[in-house]
Amino acid sequence: MMPCIHCGACVPVCPRGLWPQQLFEALGAGDLPRAQHLGLDACGACRQCQDHCPSGLPLTKRFREGQDALLALTEAEQVKALAQTRFLAREQRRAQAEAEALEAKRQRRAEAKRRAEARQAQTSGAPGRQDAQRAALARALAKAEAEDRLRDATRLRAALTALDEPS
Ligand code: SF4
Ligand code: SF4
Repeated sequence: MMPCIHCGACVPVCPRGLWPQQLFEALGAGDLPRAQHLGLDACGACRQCQDHCPSGLPLTKRFREGQDALLALTEAEQVKALAQTRFLAREQRRAQAEAEALEAKRQRRAEAKRRAEARQAQTSGAPGRQDAQRAALARALAKAEAEDRLRDATRLRAALTALDEPS
């Protein structure tokens, strides 16, 4: 018997949506609670996974044996196995919630960083805008002086002075 090469060929062919490879490994390790958690009860022993396994692993045989082992458990053992199965499911939900919370935090941080960078870019762009304003005012002033528009020239000079004063 060749080892499982983790090709995944057994997964899409399972009509019950199980992960035969993981189920096989759990049972191989004698971990019935995990096998139960992975849906051992739902396996219909249809052989689809086994027929598609390039390593020729006796998947269905092991699943049947696992189901027999489940049936052979005493009532107390079944209660214990069920509790372990529920514990595993809870742990999985907790890990998923943690992963989602971490991802949300990462996204909030990225958004805050993006906003900070945008603010900084705006601030560093301010002198450039001031220079353009100053140049426009200077051009308008030169034209007003050339055309002897004294009131306009005075107003424009005041605007230029105001622009250079610290805000
Ligand atoms: S034998 Fe069980 S695990 Fe394999 S394909 Fe059929 S239902 Fe799925
Ligand atoms: S098809 Fe066989 S070798 Fe491939 S992942 Fe499934 S059990 Fe492993």
